[in-house]
Amino acid sequence: METEKKLLSVVVSVYNEEEALPLFYKTAKPILEDLSWDYELLFVNDGSMDGSLAFLRNLAKQDDRVKVISFSRNFGHEAAMIAGIDYASGDGIVCMDADLQHPPECLPGIVKRLEEGCGVISMVRVKNKSAGLIKNITSAGFYAVINALSDVKFEANASDFFAVSKQAAQVLKGSYREKVRFLRGYVQNIGFKRETMEYEAQERVAGASKYSIRKLFAFSVNTIMCFSNLPLKLGIYAGIVAVLLGVAVMVYTLLTREGAPSGYATIVILICFMFAILFVLVGIIGEYIAILFSELKDRPIYVVEETRNCNCSEQSKIS
Ligand code: UDP
Ligand code: MG
Repeated sequence: METEKKLLSVVVSVYNEEEALPLFYKTAKPILEDLSWDYELLFVNDGSMDGSLAFLRNLAKQDDRVKVISFSRNFGHEAAMIAGIDYASGDGIVCMDADLQHPPECLPGIVKRLEEGCGVISMVRVKNKSAGLIKNITSAGFYAVINALSDVKFEANASDFFAVSKQAAQVLKGSYREKVRFLRGYVQNIGFKRETMEYEAQERVAGASKYSIRKLFAFSVNTIMCFSNLPLKLGIYAGIVAVLLGVAVMVYTLLTREGAPSGYATIVILICFMFAILFVLVGIIGEYIAILFSELKDRPIYVVEETRNCNCSEQSKIS
């Protein structure tokens, strides 16, 4: 009798990808068929406004290995990956993009590593063809800052392309349910036997990137705050420097016994400078409070409106 094959769940986040989806399916399908594992293709429709959902519904009708989870609105790429992991039933789970920037050709290698007992496989970009110079520089800058500020060390160039074993996925399902989060960071820090695999990021096959520079900036700020308390301590350091400066000026004034010195401009500049520091510090505290507030409200990470081919009676529709 044939021993039961293991199951690989491939989670694909989809947001307005009607042009890329047919190409993705056409490319991935033969590779998945050739794997030594069985597979399921889990598409998470993150509130697309184009024909993506119609295409996926149709696909699910023709191919019962295709499963669709559709959100009630756009919740973001990370929420889509989390939902995919929640709904996946495989012995290994791979998260990838629908735009073929993450080559499905890497899947056999991933399965091999999962078979060897790897808990986490981080895919590391060696070249990013579509990202311009600015994106590459800002990405390197971001990792330099976060690694300097946080106790946790991050792999630079780690992508949203990763695989986890069932056991590691269980950790992500049960814990790490933060509202302001950095999934890539969690994946790198849950432990287990971890391996990195290199891949060459391809150009987007169709459509445009959904991440604007503004979104990326907000994402970076949130991530730094989620993984480091250091910005909160800046106030203490600024206070110590201000006290030392104050004492120095006081001692100098007492020793030289000069009368009230002239220097209106100096005073105004100093006051502006000090207030600027103060406001920035208040702003930083505000950002942390905003994060605390959103955790406290405990709103769902995603809301599922419909599913196809999912045997998910045990899965709540809201998470
Ligand atoms: N995506 C998503 N929700 C969003 C934005 C993007 O599910 O709000 C998906 C998108 O369809 C793609 C993946 O996340 O499959 C990565 O997005 P994109 O290619 O735009 O980002 P980039 O590769 O440029 O960083
Ligand atoms: Mg992309």
